[in-house]
Amino acid sequence: MASINSPMDVYKLLNGSNCRECGEKTCLAFSVAVFKNKRTLDRCPHLSAEVVTTYSGTERPNTVDEYMTEAVEELKRQIPGIDLGQAAERLGARHNGKKLTIKVLGKIFSVDADGNLSSDIHINPWLVVPVLNYILHGAGKPVSGQWVTFRELNGGMERYSHYQQRCERPLKQLADTYTDLFRDMLDIFNGRKVDNYIDSDVSVVLHPLPLLPIMICYWEPEDGLESSLHIYYDKTADENLDIESVYTLTAGMMLMFEKLALRHGFKES
Ligand code: SF4
Repeated sequence: MASINSPMDVYKLLNGSNCRECGEKTCLAFSVAVFKNKRTLDRCPHLSAEVVTTYSGTERPNTVDEYMTEAVEELKRQIPGIDLGQAAERLGARHNGKKLTIKVLGKIFSVDADGNLSSDIHINPWLVVPVLNYILHGAGKPVSGQWVTFRELNGGMERYSHYQQRCERPLKQLADTYTDLFRDMLDIFNGRKVDNYIDSDVSVVLHPLPLLPIMICYWEPEDGLESSLHIYYDKTADENLDIESVYTLTAGMMLMFEKLALRHGFKES
């Protein structure tokens, strides 16, 4: 039987156009609203009656928060099984004998030997899951300085269409409509402007994890051509983090940017 176990399951049914006809600003926001039972699938006029019937009223074992919280709890339970001192040395983190401290988008994030977490900002569970996976399983490969697309990472090709829908496309939409996006990346998330990569108009490097830099490049619309946005990863990203976590990390950053934009108010297109 068709089931919806996460907002992603809703998102996969949508066309990703962010047309707003459902009353939400993006397909992603609609997916979360449906998952939380705040909207019903039939509010999206682009879904066929068959899809609406198939997926409406299906069992939802968890809310999105419960779903992600469960994943975080499971990973926290694994922390006592590792040597945090060794992990810190491997991963570009610090260890003071009690806690491992790591910088996530320039913000302090700590975990102690019992798996207790602390941070100087609210980090959503979509980010906490990959951060814990990085601490538990990251290989600690030095950054190579070579940029590749998500598709070029091991396992990226298979996930690419979902990745595009979930990460690159909504981030491009956000960059098109929220003019302060890149300034926020620099001011709030410790981003660094770099030379314009492949003739992009903006190139910003962020460090969601010490050994996992991400570069976001944006090309403004020009001469009738649409804008475009691409996200690049260091070639070693799939060794320092499993591909599913790279995907979750990027989706978590997207949620963070979207939340910030909503708080500051979108510039209507
Ligand atoms: S969920 Fe449907 S109606 Fe809402 S923005 Fe996406 S495509 Fe448009």
